[in-house]
Amino acid sequence: FAKQNGRSQYSFFFDDLKTATKRLVVLESELRKAIETKSFTMLYQPKVNIKTDRIIGLEALIRWESDKLGIVSPSEFIPFAEENGLIIPLSEAIIEKVCGEFIRLELGKRADMPISINVSSIHFQQHSFVSSLKAIFEKMNCQPSFFELELTEGTIMANAAETSMKLKELKQLGFRISVDDFGTGYSSLSYLSRFPLDYLKIDKSFITTILSAKENEYIVDAVVQLAHSLHLEVIAEGVEAVEQVELLQTLGCDIVQGYVFGKPMPAEDISHYIEIWNIKRQER
Ligand code: C2E
Ligand code: MG
Ligand code: MG
Ligand code: MG
Repeated sequence: FAKQNGRSQYSFFFDDLKTATKRLVVLESELRKAIETKSFTMLYQPKVNIKTDRIIGLEALIRWESDKLGIVSPSEFIPFAEENGLIIPLSEAIIEKVCGEFIRLELGKRADMPISINVSSIHFQQHSFVSSLKAIFEKMNCQPSFFELELTEGTIMANAAETSMKLKELKQLGFRISVDDFGTGYSSLSYLSRFPLDYLKIDKSFITTILSAKENEYIVDAVVQLAHSLHLEVIAEGVEAVEQVELLQTLGCDIVQGYVFGKPMPAEDISHYIEIWNIKRQER
């Protein structure tokens, strides 16, 4: 059979598997090298309060171009790093990089424009998470009150007792806390109300279809009500169109983040972006 058809389905399957396995081997060694040499960059995306028309925060997002693999998306290499233990050194390198840029460029040196850092669940689950974070911030001479931590709903809801303690410690240090990708996990409402949180970020998937799928508009509406009743502010992520901003405004959403206001950009460009924003704001 294999000979008649040239090559069997099975050998194609194994070829694919070989290629995939090879990629993972290269990915691991390339990632290891990138962490050691800190050869990745951080981009920053503005968050806009649509009630005050002010930029109220910046989210730090990693970008990595490997010599051998080209640009690899964080949606691929972050979960990969979480599986093979590289996420801890990678996370620490990311935090150091962001702190360094914060000092060097006086990024958001104002407490009213915190820089948010995405925290991996594996990193957060470490017993030493809070103390290691504290150590990096001290070493880098950075004040946590200028920063925010983005934890996904799944991360926050796993192991509630430990989460509660860690969040309290983080709040005491001065960090603000966002629940990222809200709506994709399973939140316990009682935990949501007891944890010391600041923001709920509604997952992109609800926002992308908010104009076309009525049920997603209702979900966003409900999340806004829920968040406000818990005294949290709501951030909509992945907003690309002005019509989406307008609808979010009528639903009472507080903060918008997305291409509609600005793509993630290099640290060097942020000051200029903020300057232009403020000039235009005066004119509006
Ligand atoms: P996330 O934290 O939920 O980040 C939001 C993602 O949406 C980012 O993708 C961002 O570039 C993208 N985005 C922003 N505005 C728009 C928009 O208007 N339209 C669309 N279609 N997308 C938009 P990115 O940078 O590829 O990151 C993907 C995920 O990878 C992040 O999701 C986060 O979970 C993770 N990640 C990124 N950077 C880091 C990091 O420094 N540390 C950790 N632990 N995870 C990170
Ligand atoms: Mg995020
Ligand atoms: Mg998100
Ligand atoms: Mg995400």
